[in-house]
Amino acid sequence: MSATIIDGKAFAADIRGRVAEQVAALKADHGITPGLAVVLVGSDAASEVYVRSKGRMTVEVGMESFEHRLPEETSEADLLSLVAQLNADPAVHGILVQLPLPGHMNSDAVINAIDPAKDVDGFHISNVGLLGTGQKAMVPCTPLGCLMMLREHLGDMSGKEAVVIGRSNIVGKPMAHLLLGESCTVSIAHSRTKDIADVVRRADIVVAAVGRPKMVRGDWIKPGATVIDVGINRVEAEGGKTRLVGDVDFDAAREVAGAITPVPGGVGPMTIACLLANTLTAACRANGLPEPEGLTV
Ligand code: NDP
Repeated sequence: MSATIIDGKAFAADIRGRVAEQVAALKADHGITPGLAVVLVGSDAASEVYVRSKGRMTVEVGMESFEHRLPEETSEADLLSLVAQLNADPAVHGILVQLPLPGHMNSDAVINAIDPAKDVDGFHISNVGLLGTGQKAMVPCTPLGCLMMLREHLGDMSGKEAVVIGRSNIVGKPMAHLLLGESCTVSIAHSRTKDIADVVRRADIVVAAVGRPKMVRGDWIKPGATVIDVGINRVEAEGGKTRLVGDVDFDAAREVAGAITPVPGGVGPMTIACLLANTLTAACRANGLPEPEGLTV
């Protein structure tokens, strides 16, 4: 039986719609317009694309977008002084410094200079600690998007076996914490895991965040499992073109899984939607207002 396809594109549009409604209410009832500042250093082509679409969608949901483009040779001290300026600016509720930063900068130092309350990427060490200890945090956007899709599709996940493949700080580890928060029994697999197929075969929930095209094979998937594919890999296609594929062999896995996200059109669109949701959350918290409904963990 073929799996249900979890449509991240449609779900992300729904989230953006809900954010837009709550932004309009915030403006009307409290005169507050949430503001997101995005800082891009250098001219990495992929980062340029992300920053452009983040700016466009921020404006589309009625928020204020502040873009700061700095040249590649900007010093770390100058970047830190911009971050301090944004921290102090009451019109800015969310700050995102686009990664990767140029090699001469210490990314950890820059991220940890952001006011944790405005750290809408959820990468500040305080937010990492809050999430890890089950407290209210700013949750990294990609794992938050994965969790929202899982909640929507599965509802209660308590007691389910979940495996996260990948242990990065931006996806794998926060994802594992979120699944623990849902009372799943969580395994984290990585490049040193001995028999990864065996670990995956036990899982009711599989989140693949590896960066290796189609690494997760169809015969690794437990029948009926829910599969969330975070991977974005550009591979060669016919006619000298390229196309995007995930970390999961989608065609094989969909024959076994209960539900699966496609690539593209799965996790990807959810990431920016969750960035907007986090900015709204930050604006509400900064003003002592209730958290936006259905958009936080
Ligand atoms: P990283 O490279 O930081 O981490 C990859 C992880 O995969 C590591 O923990 C690594 O293990 C593990 N890994 C690598 N090879 C294997 C293997 N053969 N078997 C098992 N585990 C392995 O990647 P990210 O977490 O940043 O991203 C993962 C993927 O998700 C990428 O394709 C990226 O493009 C995509 N992505 C998508 C986003 C979206 O919006 N949809 C957002 C962010 C990322 P080890 O630690 O042992 O080296």
